Amino acid sequence: MVQPTTVTGWPDEPLPLALDTAPVPEYGSGSLADLLPTLVAGQGAAGCDARIAELTPADRNCVFLIDGLGWEQIKAHPDEAPYLTSLLASSRGGTGRPITAGFPATTATSLASVGTGRVPGAHGLPGYTVRNPETGELMNQLRWKPWTPPQVWQPYPTVFQLAHEAGIHTSQVSSPIFQDTPLTKIALSGGTFHGRLSGEERMDFSAEQLAAGDRSLVYTYYSELDGAGHRFGIDSDAWRGQLMFVDRLVQRLAEQLPPRSALYVTADHGMVDIPFDEQSRIDFDEDWELRAGVALLGGEGRARHVYAVPGAETDVLTCWREVLGEQFWVASRDEALALGWFGDEVDERVYGRIGDVVAAAHDDVVITASVNEPHESAMVGMHGSMTPAEQFVPLLEVRS
Ligand SMILES: [Zn+2]
Repeated sequence: MVQPTTVTGWPDEPLPLALDTAPVPEYGSGSLADLLPTLVAGQGAAGCDARIAELTPADRNCVFLIDGLGWEQIKAHPDEAPYLTSLLASSRGGTGRPITAGFPATTATSLASVGTGRVPGAHGLPGYTVRNPETGELMNQLRWKPWTPPQVWQPYPTVFQLAHEAGIHTSQVSSPIFQDTPLTKIALSGGTFHGRLSGEERMDFSAEQLAAGDRSLVYTYYSELDGAGHRFGIDSDAWRGQLMFVDRLVQRLAEQLPPRSALYVTADHGMVDIPFDEQSRIDFDEDWELRAGVALLGGEGRARHVYAVPGAETDVLTCWREVLGEQFWVASRDEALALGWFGDEVDERVYGRIGDVVAAAHDDVVITASVNEPHESAMVGMHGSMTPAEQFVPLLEVRS
């Protein structure tokens, strides 16, 4: 356990948040990275191990990943999500528990964890934007900008590839726009990708693909709940309407499962609504204290990677702790790694992608960047950190 650095200051200054109060993701036994290896091990594929003890093997497995559907958000909306609510108590083999997304709780990181079966420190997508140590530039992991050789950035095979090689009928059923993206290539490829425009088509085709093999693995995805949350917040009619829609999608797929199937409904992260006031939205681009000694700001509002000017690392850490007080967990890179925020293995090529300082939100606050990130800074709903609202994701099971 790493001892947080003691910051001395005036008696009325808030003390920094103790780092060991951050709830670290349940890597190895109950995180997104553990799901596919567990399912595929149950189908007899070599090179995969069953890590989530509560899951019973099935010949045909379908994973439906709903972007932005946190466990706490399902629990808060039984009227809009009656079908999902009916599955809550039977999750994780009847224990009624969520799994954890991983840190940071963001789409690119989580999809890479799902697809590779590895922790962020190993697959190497440890944030929304991170520094590329080769170029010194920020790279956006979701949009893959600037373009970087995908297989150098993430060299491991996906679990889909391992399943396909083991003779399991393997497919992804998602929007056609994702078919050829670098993120799909390094996180989700293996078997056959099928582009289908509507959610209903994806459900129907996923059921067909499940039935197409004696042993099958199908991954399907829906993105628009997350979009509504970012634009309008999770306390909006638009978001609730999307939740009602995904609830019906899940039921539609569940009712078409072929024999010997298991459907798992999960998500890449949850979400938190951030008030529009200066206390809740700290603007890095306008804050000379936070900017001092910082060469690059990466990550996103609730999970920041801070890259210091060489030699200024300790000053930046001290200053960020003083300014952010109890609102954020603020760790040095080595502290974050020792605490296991990015998993217990961190590859050498990934080390320099992680900030010299890592700041994870504890309260309903964000560090925006109004000049460099105008679009992201204007969002209502946000995610990224380790709080239950964004870290806990469902693992709901339906068996035929
Ligand atoms: Zn999102």
